[in-house]
Amino acid sequence: MSQPARLPGHPHIARKNGELQVEAVSLTSLAREHGTPLFVYSKQWMLDALAAYQRGFEGRDAMVCYAIKANSSLGVLRVFAEAGCGFDIVSGGELARVLAAGADPAKVIFSGVGKTRAEMRQALAVGIGCFNVESEAELEVLNAVAIEEGRRAAISVRINPNVDPKTHPYISTGLKGNKFGVAHDRAVAIYRHAASLEGLEVVGIDCHIGSQITDVSPYLEALERVLDLVEAIEKTGIRLHHLDFGGGLGIDYNGDTPPGADTLWRQMLTRLDARGFGQRRLIVEPGRSLVGNAGVCVTEVLFTKPGEEKNFCIVDAAMNDLPRPAMYQAFHQIVPVKDRQDGSPVLYDVVGPVCESGDWIGRDRKLQIAQGDLLAVLSAGAYCMAMASNYNTRGRAAEVLVSGERATLIRRRETLDDQLRAERFED
Ligand SMILES: *Cc1c(COP(=O)(O)O)cnc(C)c1O
Repeated sequence: MSQPARLPGHPHIARKNGELQVEAVSLTSLAREHGTPLFVYSKQWMLDALAAYQRGFEGRDAMVCYAIKANSSLGVLRVFAEAGCGFDIVSGGELARVLAAGADPAKVIFSGVGKTRAEMRQALAVGIGCFNVESEAELEVLNAVAIEEGRRAAISVRINPNVDPKTHPYISTGLKGNKFGVAHDRAVAIYRHAASLEGLEVVGIDCHIGSQITDVSPYLEALERVLDLVEAIEKTGIRLHHLDFGGGLGIDYNGDTPPGADTLWRQMLTRLDARGFGQRRLIVEPGRSLVGNAGVCVTEVLFTKPGEEKNFCIVDAAMNDLPRPAMYQAFHQIVPVKDRQDGSPVLYDVVGPVCESGDWIGRDRKLQIAQGDLLAVLSAGAYCMAMASNYNTRGRAAEVLVSGERATLIRRRETLDDQLRAERFED
């Protein structure tokens, strides 16, 4: 028996005797048991990713609120709830999910530009920790709803620090042209107004500048701009109990080298200390960096199809399972689950069965494969299953959580019955 060889950048995936395993569980055996496409997650990768944040905040008053839109499966949420995390949610549905997973409502923060009155009432009723308010209009509505409900809503206002996170335009959120947050120059006036509203209690300030950020500098830039505002707001006599710097830290998809969460926060804390805010309560809202490289998607090669210009490798996973390439031209590594000795490597476009030319998973990939082989699409823990759809009446994939030698099916494959159940014919 050979020693398992770890995949570079993926410490919880290894090749043992030519076969990929996640922690100590073989992907071939999981695919045989549960079918494909199949998402498989390493629990240890998630806990290690969380530990990097905890190391960075050692000795500080800090709370990690997992941004569940990255992966909101109950089995994943339970891992973070048991580890003591708070949660960042963006809908009433996400609130119901975190509560079902055992979250403490006081550790839940509610972000998003379009909260409905019903969602506000739902969050007030369970007593969430904070609403991250994103506009002046939302402030007025939340105040009115809170008064109607006989409660006070704890709020933070999301500031748009106008910092370029140098990431894909669709996942840049802190620039002037984005729909998120309120403009920097309006912030003091908005806080003064918020403090005067009887249904609201000002508790903090927040920002979130984008996603898949692989550099410390945009964070440091946002930090200085937020702290300038904190000083200006507190001069008016309003106290901000917490500072929330959002999420956005990137992961290694293709040799990317984001800083570790501990490294990032050592640098952030140096600046916070220098400006006298190091002992303030700190909140972060990481999503991708807590789950992204925990997951792989196992898919079967249905056909190989030589073409005039391109060779296609048609697999049973598609853009409805793995939407990131179609949405953001994102790169996912694709590797065979079992090394093949025969044949030779061929350059393929790896595509799904969905009837769209945008349905590709990887372009120009050199693979030594044959019909029936399994492939693993790496870095599939974040923004894959959570964005999955039923396009082309494809059922959503199953999910397995691996911990050491143990594998738990945390979501069964969606059936056709699940899909058709909500529909009716005309009377
Ligand atoms: C999406 C989002 C996050 C998490 O972003 P990641 O890039 O996944 O870390 C955090 N906060 C808010 C407000 C978000 O919208």
